[in-house]
Amino acid sequence: MNPLTYHASQDVDDALSWIEAGARGAASVRLVAGGTNLLDLMKARVVQASGLADINGLPLAQIVDSETGGLMLGALARNADTAYHPAVRQRYPLLTAAILAGASPQIRNMASNGGNLLQRTRCCYFYDVGTPCNKRAPGSGCSAIGGLTRQHAILGASPHCIATHPSDMCVALAALEARVHVRSRNGSRVIDFADLHRLPGDRPELDTTLSSGELITHIELPAADRFAAHSCYLKVRDRASYAFALVSVATALDLGEDGTVREARIAIGGVAHKPWRRREAEALLTGRAPRSDAFGQVADALLAGAQGQGGNDFKIPLARRAIVRALSMALAGIHSNTGQVGAEASSKERS
Ligand code: SF4
Repeated sequence: MNPLTYHASQDVDDALSWIEAGARGAASVRLVAGGTNLLDLMKARVVQASGLADINGLPLAQIVDSETGGLMLGALARNADTAYHPAVRQRYPLLTAAILAGASPQIRNMASNGGNLLQRTRCCYFYDVGTPCNKRAPGSGCSAIGGLTRQHAILGASPHCIATHPSDMCVALAALEARVHVRSRNGSRVIDFADLHRLPGDRPELDTTLSSGELITHIELPAADRFAAHSCYLKVRDRASYAFALVSVATALDLGEDGTVREARIAIGGVAHKPWRRREAEALLTGRAPRSDAFGQVADALLAGAQGQGGNDFKIPLARRAIVRALSMALAGIHSNTGQVGAEASSKERS
């Protein structure tokens, strides 16, 4: 048993002072909201903390219209409340579909939006403190290279880490070009979603570009009504629920009156250290009729340079088929391959 202090923060400035103390090394204090990943990491001794600062009392759980026609999602709004919020369901069905494809009802009821963005990889070696892992212990090596790689990256990996980002929600947020609002003792800033998560390079211990004293306060969804009718989140996994993606695809099409593509957005999950987008690949659809041969060309461009690790070579053809299928489903107005988007509205899911 390790002794642990507990503090409940009631305002953002207080929480920031706890973050700052942790950044200075004055105490190994972690902020906790839903705790659905952090507590697992602590129990596995991947994360060792001397204290927890509970931020559930901060006023950051609202979902409200933004001044620019979009939505502001509070960092402490629960994943289930976000997925079932009427404005999200109506204007961003892609996000609803992605959230409901993730985890289990119990976890979605607890997990916060900010925590979803900051969850750690599910690489099995990262959780096994008896094995080398550059992400957990920088410089110790990567046990996944030459090991079990079914869940690992085919794009953007490095010789130091081949882990994938596990979130479904983040794949949709990448396609929707969300923006992340953060605060620190030095002020506020806004980060384009594409710039929040990073590829591993030679610093795989760093998942994001956040500084150590920063707190996510909101996720801003830009106005995206033009994509709502033709968007789809498709997830391929080893079992029908409560499993991380082998490959997932978030697609959104803005179609002109003549049926050609005005703009296409495609983000892929389960394949890299961050949601994977290539705008030059998406641009191949602009001005074209949305047909399967064009979808195949886009898939090839999105996956150019993909490299398997042996145990995950199957992901390359799987991802190509998933991209083409997700685009076809979006064109047909089918939002998900799980069938949950049209479910009865509920503020809390039955567990
Ligand atoms: Fe660690 Fe990354 Fe290698 Fe997994 S893939 S063992 S997280 S360094």
